[in-house]
Parts: sequence; C-alpha cells; structure tokens
Amino acid sequence: DKKVSILGIPFDNLTRVEFLARLLARMEANQKTFLVTANPEIVMYAKEDDEYYNLLLKADYVAPDGIGIVRAAKKLGTPIKERVPGFELMLGLLELSNMHKKRVYFIGAKEEIVEKAVNNAEKLWPNLVVAGYHHGYFDHSDSAMIDHVKSVEPDLILVAFGFPRQEKWIHEYLKAAGHGIAVGVGGSFDVLSG
Ligand code: UDP
Repeated sequence: DKKVSILGIPFDNLTRVEFLARLLARMEANQKTFLVTANPEIVMYAKEDDEYYNLLLKADYVAPDGIGIVRAAKKLGTPIKERVPGFELMLGLLELSNMHKKRVYFIGAKEEIVEKAVNNAEKLWPNLVVAGYHHGYFDHSDSAMIDHVKSVEPDLILVAFGFPRQEKWIHEYLKAAGHGIAVGVGGSFDVLSG
C-alpha cells in the first residue's frame, strides 16, 4: 500500500474498518505488529527527537489520529481517506479481541485507573480474555516487565504511558516477544476508566 508522508512520517491511507481488518488478519496469523496512532503532537515531536522519529519509521502501521493530520495530507496534495482516532482504534481492537477470543494485556496509567479500565472493558465485552494488567509507573528500561508480559502471551498489548515513552517500550517489547499487536494508547485508560 502507498503511504502518505507528513513531515517524514509514513501514514497508512486506510479507513478505521480497513485498519481493523488488517490488524485482525495479523492477529490470526500471529504476526507481531507495531501500531502507532500518530496525532499532530507526535508528528511535531518526532521532528525534535531523532531516536523517536526512527522508531516511528519501524512501525508496521501508522494511523492518522486527528483532523490535523487529515488537513495536512489534503494541503500536501496527498489526501487520506479519513481520520482514525486512536481511542476508536483501541475500542475496535477490543471488540475484535472479544469476538475472536484474543488475549489482551493492559499496561499503563495509575493502578486504580488501569484496574477500573479493565473492569469497564470486561463489562462492555463479556467474552474478553484479559491476559493481565499492570500500572505504568515502573522503570520502563527494566526488562523484567517485558519478560512478564511476554510470558502471558497476549495477542493485543495496549500501552498507556503517553508518547514517546509508550512507543519506546513497545519497540523493546516486540524485539523480545514472539507475537502480538502492540499499540500506544496515550491517555485512553483514563477515558475507559470513567
Ligand atoms: N503514564 C504512565 N507512566 C508514566 C507516565 C504516564 O503510565 O511514566 C500514564 C498516565 O497515567 C496517563 C497516560 O500515561 O494515563 C498518558 O499520560 P500523559 O497525559 O502524561 O500523556 P499524553 O496523553 O499527553 O501522551
């Protein structure tokens, strides 16, 4: 597929439904997948942080998170189909995980927030298989957490540390893990917990 470049970030020109279809296919095929939902803040930040920029280039998919990305693409003469908010992509992935009995790990936010987010997810999707959850306030460079998450074999790993922390951790996680779709979801657990 052709990518749409905005300040050097390669966005996938897919609708929300198309993203979810591909991500499900990759889950079914046990292909490890680094998904980034990039909003204008992330694009601007990547200009200032080379390490982070190079990380984003390693993503398997970059979703256009926000109307600012859609507008920029149009201005550049390479329109993209639609805005794909990270929060909606996360809800879609949880829905698919529920339907296909995939294992989900929630990592990030404060202890009581992630706990409530998991409780709400279990109410919304009664067949959801929660592989585990953990708050986000630990030493992100400690590989013990990577080993732990890997050991429970999640198919979907939702990482809510905020950028750029979450993408950096995901990159290390996927180097070690055998499979799983990993995505940084920013402040989404704070929303899902409410
Ligand atoms: N967070 C975390 N570990 C950290 C820093 C932040 O788990 O070391 C969580 C925080 O509790 C919140 C989420 O990351 O749920 C997003 O944080 P923030 O609002 O600072 O980031 P942004 O949404 O602006 O990227």
